[in-house]
Amino acid sequence: MRIQIEKLKSRLKKARSLVVLTGAGVSSESGVPTFRGADGLWRNHDPMALATPEAFEEDPVLVWEWYDWRRSIISKIQPNPAHYAIAELEKRYAEFTLITQNVDGLHLLAGSQKAIELHGSIWTLKCVECGNSSENREVPIKILPRCSCGGLLRPSVVWFGEALPEGALYRAFEASSNAEVMLVVGTSGVVQPAASLALRAKGAGAFVVEINPEETQLSGSLDMRLSGKAGELMPTLL
Ligand code: NAD
Ligand code: ZN
Repeated sequence: MRIQIEKLKSRLKKARSLVVLTGAGVSSESGVPTFRGADGLWRNHDPMALATPEAFEEDPVLVWEWYDWRRSIISKIQPNPAHYAIAELEKRYAEFTLITQNVDGLHLLAGSQKAIELHGSIWTLKCVECGNSSENREVPIKILPRCSCGGLLRPSVVWFGEALPEGALYRAFEASSNAEVMLVVGTSGVVQPAASLALRAKGAGAFVVEINPEETQLSGSLDMRLSGKAGELMPTLL
């Protein structure tokens, strides 16, 4: 492992462009419940069934209660050493892009400036009628929140079955195509486009490294795997 870390550090030193792609695993050491982990269930509901447009249509109160619970947990949480290491890496590269699937806002809190929030943010709400979006950090939130137009407000996140914001996706593919090194941190690669971004970078010649305590579907296709926790491994790269 030490030899691998040294090899990666020398790659990082030579590179001009770096892309970091993160998933729920980066925030798990801060205490944000993942969807698939053992802590995933809420009142016996499966998050995968709640984070859908159909669930919101059917029972917006239930979905909002779940988001209110998540927002309340996340509001009391701090970024961990992985978030801070990524914010520090950003300062060292002329070309740097952070692509995150996380909606918790912890990267921004840790000081990352160039983050593409592919799946949106739980701190932004959007109106299902007029499409207006605005920041909202109320915890607890008054259920059901409404827009000034009277429409229902929903979390501005990408739910299962929904399309990703086009601009963000385009920028993510651009950055991945131009990366010299890509770090894939704490993502299972099950939810697209995470896997395709990593493979795009690899196909375009980047040195792609996975940092994850578990093997993933991507593991076999990348250049290096560092097996361990993001909060422990990321700071060693600085
Ligand atoms: P995932 O739940 O599918 O996978 C998490 C990955 O993180 C796993 O491969 C796991 O082995 C790894 N992991 C766990 N602990 C780790 C650690 N300490 N260090 C490094 N890796 C660790 O997550 P995903 O791939 O991001 O996809 C889940 C979807 O759910 C995304 O769409 C995301 O938007 C959403 N989600 C977001 C949050 C959040 O914002 N924090 C939390 C849960 C789910
Ligand atoms: Zn509205």
